[in-house]
Amino acid sequence: MSGVLLSVEAALATVLAGIEGLADLEEMGPEGALGRVLATPVVSTTALPPWDNSAMDGYAIRSADVAAASEGTPVRLTVVGEVRAGVAPDVRVLGGTAVRIATGAALPPGADAVVPVELTTPLDGSGNPGPRGREAVGPLPAACLVHVPVGARNAIRDAGSDVAAGVEVVAAGSLVTPAVVALAAGAGAGLVTVRRRPVVAVLATGDEVRAAGTDLGPAGIPDANGPGLRALVREAGATPLDLGIAVDRLEDVEARLRRGLSEADLVVVSGGVSVGPYDVVRTAFDSVGHINLWRVAIQPGKPFAFGRADVDGRDRPVLLFGLPGNPVSSFVTFELFVRPVIRRLAGHATLQRPVDRAVLEEGVSKSVGRRGFQRVTALRAPDGSPLRDGAGRVRVRLAGGQGSHVLSALAAADALAVVPEPLERAEAGTEVELRWLDRG
Ligand code: AMP
Ligand code: MG
Repeated sequence: MSGVLLSVEAALATVLAGIEGLADLEEMGPEGALGRVLATPVVSTTALPPWDNSAMDGYAIRSADVAAASEGTPVRLTVVGEVRAGVAPDVRVLGGTAVRIATGAALPPGADAVVPVELTTPLDGSGNPGPRGREAVGPLPAACLVHVPVGARNAIRDAGSDVAAGVEVVAAGSLVTPAVVALAAGAGAGLVTVRRRPVVAVLATGDEVRAAGTDLGPAGIPDANGPGLRALVREAGATPLDLGIAVDRLEDVEARLRRGLSEADLVVVSGGVSVGPYDVVRTAFDSVGHINLWRVAIQPGKPFAFGRADVDGRDRPVLLFGLPGNPVSSFVTFELFVRPVIRRLAGHATLQRPVDRAVLEEGVSKSVGRRGFQRVTALRAPDGSPLRDGAGRVRVRLAGGQGSHVLSALAAADALAVVPEPLERAEAGTEVELRWLDRG
């Protein structure tokens, strides 16, 4: 196991092997399901629109009445009533009559078309015309002149033309986006069924690591990874569980791990994964489960361990991720290996972030034999959109120092530029794959 470095693809295949979406389901209103994955289809309980309604403010009429209308010889119709949105029609349109109608109001019986108010002139009880095409507000006119012919179904939204009643409107497996929230709610679904969020336990380790904001003493450093990883967990769509900060002792790491095993689907540990005298995480993984892989050909991201632990009473093993203590390394390994697993557990079809092509504006060095994931920033137009060269490639520069401890560059980066294993250096002008961090 030692000397050999696993490729990124082989490592990802190993961590994803046999993993399926969580079977546990939850019911909730569409709004609360934002970001979840639908476990069952959303079925409409109502047609959309539920009844024929008007697409415009105007008059519900019979189209045959206005077939001969023109500017010079408008057709006069008697206005016999009004339909407002939210009120069922109580009047019928007969030949020679019109009913004033508001956008979204139900089409009254007898009408087969709506003529927009802009194409009419109101007449008062004495037959005096008002201003042409004014808004359909104010007292109901006694009659109106229609200046143009309109065809049958003009400005009418037919019942069920968007969605029929009792049909599948969103498929199982779909991501609940804001538009899906609107569609599900609009189609009358009070509740939707989604997969539960994975629970991901996060444990920071290190005798030097202290909770941020507490006294650091002479040799302490603030815990960046615990809060950072829990934020990544949340952003990936899972619920974080805080296992605190363990000292570099097997008993402490193991006890906290066991809490993670009983409460979480996946445990992420930062630090202590290396081969130093105080690095106890791999030993702890081996005592609660078994390690499946160790050492991947990436930079940053050394060292990285993955394992599984079978837990009594659980129908699937709890996944164990040992990430490097260096914050940039733990972030990148989470991004590459943990996030796809969380998304698979949550039921998402798409596991990876969007990928682009980029061109380096400046050169960067890296270790031969490891795939580099450089923290980069896209050059941007004043409106914030990324600048591309003539070949459509995003122009990127380094976000700052590329050391695996440089958090400021990580925070400044909006993407990772992927530099292939064989290269020791990629010069300015090199084309690279770009993995956006700030998008979907
Ligand atoms: P390790 O992987 O435990 O050897 O740690 C590598 C480097 O990351 C060391 O410089 C640690 O001090 C640092 N480190 C480990 N854990 C954290 C943490 N939670 N927050 C910030 N830095 C850390
Ligand atoms: Mg350590």
